[in-house]
Amino acid sequence: MSRVWNFSAGPAVLPVEVLQEAADEMLDYKGSGMGVMEMSHRSKVYDNIIKEAEADLRTLLNIPDNYKVLFLQGGAHTQFAMIPMNFLHKGKAGYIVTGNWAKKAFNEAKKYGDIVKLASSEDKTFSYIPDCSDLPITDDMDYVYICENNTIFGTKFWELPNTKGIDLISDMSSCFLSEPVDVSKYAMIYAGAQKNVGPAGVVICIIREDLIPEEKDCFPGTPTMLQYKVHADAGSLYNTPPAYGIYFCGLVFKWLLRNGGLEAMKEKNIAKAKVLYDYLDSQDFYHGTVVPKDRSLMNAPFVIGDKDLEAKFIKEAADAGFVNLKGHKITGGMRASMYNAMPIEGVEALVEFMKKFAAENQK
Ligand SMILES: *Cc1c(COP(=O)(O)O)cnc(C)c1O
Repeated sequence: MSRVWNFSAGPAVLPVEVLQEAADEMLDYKGSGMGVMEMSHRSKVYDNIIKEAEADLRTLLNIPDNYKVLFLQGGAHTQFAMIPMNFLHKGKAGYIVTGNWAKKAFNEAKKYGDIVKLASSEDKTFSYIPDCSDLPITDDMDYVYICENNTIFGTKFWELPNTKGIDLISDMSSCFLSEPVDVSKYAMIYAGAQKNVGPAGVVICIIREDLIPEEKDCFPGTPTMLQYKVHADAGSLYNTPPAYGIYFCGLVFKWLLRNGGLEAMKEKNIAKAKVLYDYLDSQDFYHGTVVPKDRSLMNAPFVIGDKDLEAKFIKEAADAGFVNLKGHKITGGMRASMYNAMPIEGVEALVEFMKKFAAENQK
């Protein structure tokens, strides 16, 4: 077996140790005589799996008791609609548009109410986080929405916006569990699993309990499946959940706990990103595209500024075992995603490859 250095933005690299554990349990989960994919989500054994996953996540993120943890389906995209359908009571919300995913959430929310673009960094191809210290936020807004780590453009909110007392909702898909977070600062956090946590198919929502509305307070006609309350009341078992995906996320939570939790993860992620960013800043063959103070630890876009050379880079990198380095189709260039499961050795090896490629192709 040979594994590549996988710099994919998502679905992304997962810890080898966890993949091996899942493989070992594939045919017979802890003496049950069946795999997790084959068991009823109503069984005692599965009930333990989902309850333990939730408990471990609560430990990792120190989630206060007045927050519900939901394991849902439909990815982040479904949240773009669920959020306004459940939380627009006054009918108005503010969105900070710092990338493609925030923009999609903003456009989706417009179907359900008066949605205000509070700030945007689209003027400079989303290469920075706008000043959010004094935004035009008004008391009649139900919530303020951000995408905390912009997967495509490689920016991160290192300081949360001043929401002037309005509830904050954050799409953390691509930085979830990469560092400790003070959950109490948010009304809701959500994350698609396939970036940093597990297989695609699961989206994790952490919601302050008092916000979860009754059906009558949701947008008229909100489908049952799109009401948070339905899932919260059923402990994420209203319908058949993405059962195997939740199990796998649970294994990743245990891996994180065994490896020092989120403080340790943050230190590792800082050290990893530093290897790449220090190199980018030390030469001028490659150029990082993000304003340095707003750089993400998870996703690092860079360019050479010559499309043919970039195509050559991506191809030769893949041949050398560094895969999925092609930037998003919107940005072009390259992007290295360095999620929790990417060891520092992978980033060091990538930088060595980059040095060699630069030396061979310098004009
Ligand atoms: C990938 C991503 C999404 C979209 O996720 P889907 O699971 O495809 O819906 C949304 N937000 C962010 C920040 C992402 O990285």
